Amino acid sequence: MPYDRIQLASASPRRSQLLRQIGVAHEVRAVDLDESRLAGESPRDYVLRLARAGLTPSDLSGLIVTHEHGDHGDGVFPLARRLGLPVWLTHGTLAALRESAGGVDDECSIELIDSHRAFAVGDLMVQPFTVPHDAREPVQFVLSDGARRLGVLTDTGRSTTSIESSLSGCDALVLECNYDSSMLERGPYPQALKARIASRLGHLDNDCSAALLGRLDCSRLKHVIAAHLSTTNNTPERARSALAGALGCGPEWITVATQNEGFGWRDLD
Ligand SMILES: [Zn+2]
Ligand SMILES: [Zn+2]
Repeated sequence: MPYDRIQLASASPRRSQLLRQIGVAHEVRAVDLDESRLAGESPRDYVLRLARAGLTPSDLSGLIVTHEHGDHGDGVFPLARRLGLPVWLTHGTLAALRESAGGVDDECSIELIDSHRAFAVGDLMVQPFTVPHDAREPVQFVLSDGARRLGVLTDTGRSTTSIESSLSGCDALVLECNYDSSMLERGPYPQALKARIASRLGHLDNDCSAALLGRLDCSRLKHVIAAHLSTTNNTPERARSALAGALGCGPEWITVATQNEGFGWRDLD
């Protein structure tokens, strides 16, 4: 087969196994989630990911941005421009993006949000809440159609009472499980990066995420997705087992979102 060198943007072990089976020499390079390291998703890649989820760009109402770090803010304005979508974000996130390499496209429709005030996106109400994270004005969100609530929490160094009251009583949760503390400690990262990740303004480890989950009202909870996992400092099994431990359920009940595929649709009815 005539080929020179190709890159597959995939972390799938199955894909790697298939390549091995057909005798294609390859190497797997780790791509991590630390914000400073990831280039933003291109509009094309984003649309391809939507297609895998059975959506087209016309199904989108807008882009809601949590904070300016590269794994969240890069690519937002090129995508908004390409698809003609409004962008919702805090004043601080907008200011920080203006200073970033990608900048801000002022031709796009920009909707500034108050980090404590709910806003509407189509039929959905979106309630922001603030989080301790080393960004300018970071927020996370609870989305609701009036009957059901989806809570999303990534990129927070610690839990807070305000985070927990926002996420209590949700029907579904996406929860950061960024690292396993022993893996981070023993892992290859430079000391300064380890300290940043583990700091009060860094990321949630599996145990903190599980402890947070254990303090929530979970009486309506039907889905839990572990998200924002480091590929260097965590494993899906560790994240799953920590969250399952907090709920007293089997680990198979917890879904783990991956960098390339995200996770499949969930029905909240
Ligand atoms: Zn992030
Ligand atoms: Zn971040």
